[in-house]
Amino acid sequence: MRGLPFFICLVLIVSTASAEDFCTTLSKKLRTVTYSGCKGLTLQPSGHTSIEGIPLMARRVRPQTPVPSRILFLGGIHGDEWASVSLSYLWLQNLIEQQPHLRHDWLVVPVVNPDGLFRRPSQRTNARGVDLNRNFPSPDWHTHAHNWWQQFKRRNPRYYPGPAPASEPETRYVLSLIRNFQPHIIIALHAPYKLLDYDGPHHIIVPQKLGPLKLRQLGTYPGSLGRYAGEYLHIPVLTIELASAANMPTRQQIQSMWQDLAHWLDKIR
Ligand SMILES: [Zn+2]
Repeated sequence: MRGLPFFICLVLIVSTASAEDFCTTLSKKLRTVTYSGCKGLTLQPSGHTSIEGIPLMARRVRPQTPVPSRILFLGGIHGDEWASVSLSYLWLQNLIEQQPHLRHDWLVVPVVNPDGLFRRPSQRTNARGVDLNRNFPSPDWHTHAHNWWQQFKRRNPRYYPGPAPASEPETRYVLSLIRNFQPHIIIALHAPYKLLDYDGPHHIIVPQKLGPLKLRQLGTYPGSLGRYAGEYLHIPVLTIELASAANMPTRQQIQSMWQDLAHWLDKIR
């Protein structure tokens, strides 16, 4: 037992060091994220790590008064979509500033795929070359994921679904969040198709736009988050596809996206 306080202390030191390392690497990678800004978000290591051992970090932002609706916000599932990570940070900052007045309970993961983001050059897939957005365990994964990849993507490595459903630690991390946090809504940030997509239950009023992004429902793919969480688990999944992977939307566009999102969330509450 005497070793326990030392062990706890060691875990805390390791966690802090990981958060600092993470913010150092991230601020070097993205010009929109500063080290002190990243540290100020007090991201917490989840205990899950990427293939290359980078901690997968999240931040819960909940209002003072308990609310019934939980929102899971995921950025950087694809490592080469920098704007999605940058905007996730900005929105997390915004949530923290508004915390006392929030009307929902948020869990934000700004970078689901740090290995892909921190590669030089950054890559869509994780360190093992798996497209995380084709690795979710939708019921048709075994029968369709590899067929779809071969037939419709001609084995393009950017869309490789992996050797098995949920074979990747980053995918399993998101699955654990869905299981434990039980979100009512999932929002995933991507780029660069300049649209808003929705997958999930049909009784939900679907937003027609978020700022400059108009609703265009593309359908889902075997192993995608939309097919797994939206169609299989019946959790509304809103996919925000920014217009550019490299450049952030303007301040005015971000503001109008944020307002439209808040308006929609209030409507379906
Ligand atoms: Zn993407």
